[in-house]
Amino acid sequence: MSRLIRGVSKNARFVLVDTKDIVQEALDIHKCSPTAISSFGRLLSAAIIMGATLKGEDILTLRTTTNGPLSNMLATVNKNGVKGYLSNPEVDLPSKANGEPDVQNLVGQGTLHVIKDLGLKDPYIGVSTITSGEIAYDIAYYYVTSEQTPTVIALGVELENEKIVKSAGGYMIQLLPGAEETFIVELEKKIAAIRGVSELFKGGMDLERILHLIYEDMSDEEHEKLIEDYEILDSKEIKYSCDCSKEKFFKGIITLGKGEIEEILAEKGEVEAQCHFCGKSYVFKREELEEIL
Ligand SMILES: [Zn+2]
Repeated sequence: MSRLIRGVSKNARFVLVDTKDIVQEALDIHKCSPTAISSFGRLLSAAIIMGATLKGEDILTLRTTTNGPLSNMLATVNKNGVKGYLSNPEVDLPSKANGEPDVQNLVGQGTLHVIKDLGLKDPYIGVSTITSGEIAYDIAYYYVTSEQTPTVIALGVELENEKIVKSAGGYMIQLLPGAEETFIVELEKKIAAIRGVSELFKGGMDLERILHLIYEDMSDEEHEKLIEDYEILDSKEIKYSCDCSKEKFFKGIITLGKGEIEEILAEKGEVEAQCHFCGKSYVFKREELEEIL
């Protein structure tokens, strides 16, 4: 089960996610290469983290347009879950010398769009530069430059083999306005000292344990003291979720226009449309389209 916890301490707020099942589903749907799912899984995890407080009909979308072989990715999240697609799921690169997937070069450099539709008249659209291609760094960069919020993000996807996800997830810590210098120093020390996300999951840690690890005071030998107390405000299950339906696709097909629909029917005998997000396919026979022909 994929899950999220979020909360606050005196000087920061935090979100942690375990997205193994979601990334597995994304791998199954999109038939991604190992490096592509490592990149896409990071983006899906980032979207969930950034959308942790979405309510009602709110939607947050991350879109990357980059010059690496992966080219474009999109992840969109609402209170029910996350979904996404990528333009070139099959592209791959050899692993780096240390065995890590070469996410940086598969993604490359380019632009990150952060689109928040919070039910206001116009959605908020933030644009930021992707310089590392490593996703976590690029999202942190967005927060610092576009929202002036000092942010630490760590993301990881580890595969068992080409078809099985071993672990996926990550965490984000954001300083609250006026955060104390001593806390910032302690947190920086801690983040620099702890292992990567995949390593933490591999060690069997759950989200609560990772959170404790981030906040535990290294000067205390038993690691029982904390840098500061924190409170978990929300803990919930999250899913890969697509809300497509035949009705929605019908509306899309109408926009093709009568001429094109007739052409497809003449050639194939039916109109088939496939959902980019979940791979589900919808077939319309002539009699279902009669009212618009
Ligand atoms: Zn769908």
